[in-house]
Amino acid sequence: MLRDSFGRVATDLRVSLTDKCNLRCTYCMPPEGLDWLPNAQLLTADEIVRLVTIGVERLGITEVRYTGGEPLIRRELVDIVARTAALTPRPQISLTTNGIGLARLAEPLAAAGLDRVNVSLDTLDPDTFKRLAYRDRHADVIAGLAAADEAGLRPVKVNAVLMRDLNDHEAVPLLRWCLDQGYELRFIEQMPLDAQHGWTREGMVTADEILDRLSSAFDLTVDDIEERGSAPAERFLVDGGPARVGVIGSVTRPFCGSCDRVRLTADGQVRNCLFATEESDLKTRMRAGASDEELAERWVAAVARKRAGHGIDDPSFLQPARPMSAIGG
Ligand code: SAM
Ligand code: SF4
Repeated sequence: MLRDSFGRVATDLRVSLTDKCNLRCTYCMPPEGLDWLPNAQLLTADEIVRLVTIGVERLGITEVRYTGGEPLIRRELVDIVARTAALTPRPQISLTTNGIGLARLAEPLAAAGLDRVNVSLDTLDPDTFKRLAYRDRHADVIAGLAAADEAGLRPVKVNAVLMRDLNDHEAVPLLRWCLDQGYELRFIEQMPLDAQHGWTREGMVTADEILDRLSSAFDLTVDDIEERGSAPAERFLVDGGPARVGVIGSVTRPFCGSCDRVRLTADGQVRNCLFATEESDLKTRMRAGASDEELAERWVAAVARKRAGHGIDDPSFLQPARPMSAIGG
């Protein structure tokens, strides 16, 4: 098992398939993009499947989420999902994506065994989308969402990050639209993980603010039907339910105490936290001929060192050197 020194057990593995992306969301990366990892440093599909297999078969991983960067860019994605679905015990398999290309891929991904999808959509307005993500692709995201729904990847979840003076006036319209479409919306507080280091606490739209805005139009009640457990979203019934909305207050309402996540970067480093400042290199050991047992041991040791919390409020907090797109959000 992947148990840390505070007794938390990691069962939810997030795998970044690439650090590259076809959008440039302001809270994530600069308009000019980043110095992408050289291809030789990326794990191959076989290497990804080998590490995921070790996680599932030896280390108690029960959920695998593919992310990035933009995971739909990775050509072997359908194959990777199919091979993940063939593992025993079969893990739950999900995807976090910006939705571009999902119109074409939702069906084959569902057929390969994908269970669930989270699509990021921060605005209903194509012009705001262009200002926020520096690409004119709003229609592709909307089409991707519809295709996910059509392919049965339900409940389709939508992730939204609000930025002050850019899209923070859209909390209510976004929720209304998602309710109309039958999608489950979750707002995520902006975290200090952008490559440009532009995050400020004052600039961040807090969970409290988001809830205030939503409460001006909807009746929100804490959803006590399902325990929050290790799920980071606090969920609320909208107008008595059954529709729900989630708010992930990663900064102001941290859930570190019940965190069950561990991450694998696209270049094969285990990270025990989004905000970790150290990583454990499985790729180099694997390429040097390490056995499954040895890789599992290194992985166990990496999780054992997990810190109690992300410490964003700590005066000594250091933003990790890798941005979100390279860690795997
Ligand atoms: N490209 C895919 C996407 O956008 O869904 C997957 C990777 S992205 C890094 C994963 C999630 O992280 C997205 O929902 C995105 O909105 C969120 N995200 C990125 N940067 C963030 C930040 N600085 N704070 C909070 N959420 C962030
Ligand atoms: Fe790309 Fe996702 Fe980052 Fe946006 S949040 S730039 S879609 S990786």
